[in-house]
Amino acid sequence: MKLLKDKILEEGRVVGEDILKVDSFLNHQIDVELLKEIGKEFKNRFNNKKITKIITIEASGIAIATLAAQYFNVPVVFAKKTESRNLDNDTYESQVHSFTKGITYSIKISKRYLNEEDHVLILDDFLANGQAALGLIDLVNQSKAVVEGIGIVIEKGFQQGGNLIRAKNIQLESLAILQSFEEKQIRFK
Ligand code: 5GP
Repeated sequence: MKLLKDKILEEGRVVGEDILKVDSFLNHQIDVELLKEIGKEFKNRFNNKKITKIITIEASGIAIATLAAQYFNVPVVFAKKTESRNLDNDTYESQVHSFTKGITYSIKISKRYLNEEDHVLILDDFLANGQAALGLIDLVNQSKAVVEGIGIVIEKGFQQGGNLIRAKNIQLESLAILQSFEEKQIRFK
């Protein structure tokens, strides 16, 4: 997606060996017009699929999923990372290991909002080692709903997440795939 790639080249910053900071449009300040275009692009790429629900993970996935949902006309359910007394006791739960933060955390979705009749599109901001996506797939599998596809805004193609998801025969659509950050230069696949 050219618009997205241009934005990454203009505003993305490589931090350390393998982190891309895109706080100016995706992870802190949100470029709503860009996210609308991203939503339309996901709709085009999954147009042949019957989707009843979009699932994502808090916090950065919420804006992406919500703006995309307008084009699918379906609700968004976001997996909660934080312990909350307000969350129902009856939840699907999975563990996600974050290599970037070096921690493992639980993600939960209330059983009220996901069930075996659902056809789910999973959306998220980044795909790196694939642990967040695998955790979301696990929640959907527990509910016996169907994963129809996974849409990612930025895939880091030099990490293993893409291979793990593609090996599961799930339709994976990444709008920008990064090849490398050699000498802090962003290169796309
Ligand atoms: P994974 O579970 O695929 O290893 O990592 C996915 C999650 O980690 C994403 O939801 C995102 O929040 C975070 N993440 C991984 N790599 C990056 C990165 O290079 N930049 C940013 N901003 N977030 C990342």
